Amino acid sequence: MKTLSQIDSLVYELINKETARQEDGIELIASENYVSKAVMEAMGSCLTNKYSEGYVGKRYYGGNEIIDEVEALAIERCKELFGCEHVNVQPLSGSPANAAVFFATIKPGDKVLGLQLDHGGHLSHGHPVNFSGMLYNFTQYQVDRESGIIDMEKVREIALREKPKMILAGFSAYSRNLDWKKFKEIADEIGAITFADIAHIAGLIAGKAIESPIPYFDITSTTTHKTLRGPRGAVIMCKEPFAKAIDRAVFPGMQGGPHDHATAAKAVAFGEALQPEFQVYAKAVIENAQAMAAELMAAGFRIISGGTDNHLMVVDVTSKGISGKEAERILDIAGISTSRSTIPFDSRKPMDPSGVRLGTAAITTRAFDTADSRAVAQAIAQAIENHGDEAKLKSIRESILELCRKRPLYTSIV
Ligand SMILES: *Cc1c(COP(=O)(O)O)cnc(C)c1O
Repeated sequence: MKTLSQIDSLVYELINKETARQEDGIELIASENYVSKAVMEAMGSCLTNKYSEGYVGKRYYGGNEIIDEVEALAIERCKELFGCEHVNVQPLSGSPANAAVFFATIKPGDKVLGLQLDHGGHLSHGHPVNFSGMLYNFTQYQVDRESGIIDMEKVREIALREKPKMILAGFSAYSRNLDWKKFKEIADEIGAITFADIAHIAGLIAGKAIESPIPYFDITSTTTHKTLRGPRGAVIMCKEPFAKAIDRAVFPGMQGGPHDHATAAKAVAFGEALQPEFQVYAKAVIENAQAMAAELMAAGFRIISGGTDNHLMVVDVTSKGISGKEAERILDIAGISTSRSTIPFDSRKPMDPSGVRLGTAAITTRAFDTADSRAVAQAIAQAIENHGDEAKLKSIRESILELCRKRPLYTSIV
């Protein structure tokens, strides 16, 4: 960034500081990851200069011959990676992608069934403060109070009673595999459209570490920046009969010009995810999460659903006498980034809930193994148990820094 350093030292310095923060801290925010330098270079390219409203071969602006090739390549790689019939690679992010899916398939006021936010769902799955909850008539399913797991018989019961036009399966804070086939069977009983939102787990699916909904579901959306390890953005995949409606909903329905530099970076990320090493990565992400969960449970923490099948876990920290917000703050002091999280049937408020959500996608990218993951879990337990002891927190921060120096970020990613 030689030019930036000379032209705008203020922004350059801020980026430098953030680089150091990422290098020297442990990133356990479950929705985050570190992209490759190749993805960053595509993001930083001159493709950001172009306007390309429309689709490959059908643009509303001239000069799109090369952009057409870029977008066609992203589409081709995404299809190969996920085995989908159709894909739109233009959605700017996950929430707008979901808006486009609703816009393409249902009408305002129509009934949709989705997972409740504080049970692991996402804002765009029908929460009252989100457009989804304002425009559509959402009914929500929950996890079982005892097991912390989604009870498919309950989902079926609600579906048969409420007869939604669409069933939405997907989550931001749920650590178990979903039974895609069962969701599809339930939807077929009532003639509902099936919509999977794999924003969190797309990388694990692409890496063939967990099952894909794509063979079963009508429509699947995903962000590209979480476990998939691409640029900020999203894609919508669907069966051929939905292709036209999805494309029209994205443009001209929802968006103007696509972000061509992001499209190029998505193509790069899909290319990386098609390499055999990405399957090794996806498997390691889950192994690290399971090692971390086991270590935390051994230290006396309650993990919702008793463990994890994916990259994330929701930890109830109230048994250690602190709230999720307080845990987030203490772990920050120790050099560990996490996000506070509600737990199912939480008696505390969303701004200061009972849990923290942890994920291993980012640390696995910087080559942390299961022993490192266990060490991180021990540091978390130590920090929370000694949350009033400043000297102890400081010494934990030192050990975290040592671990980060052992697994440097920008030399381990290529
Ligand atoms: C992250 C996420 C989204 C939203 O993605 P943004 O890019 O932040 O808008 C949508 N759905 C689920 C399930 C998510 O986890």
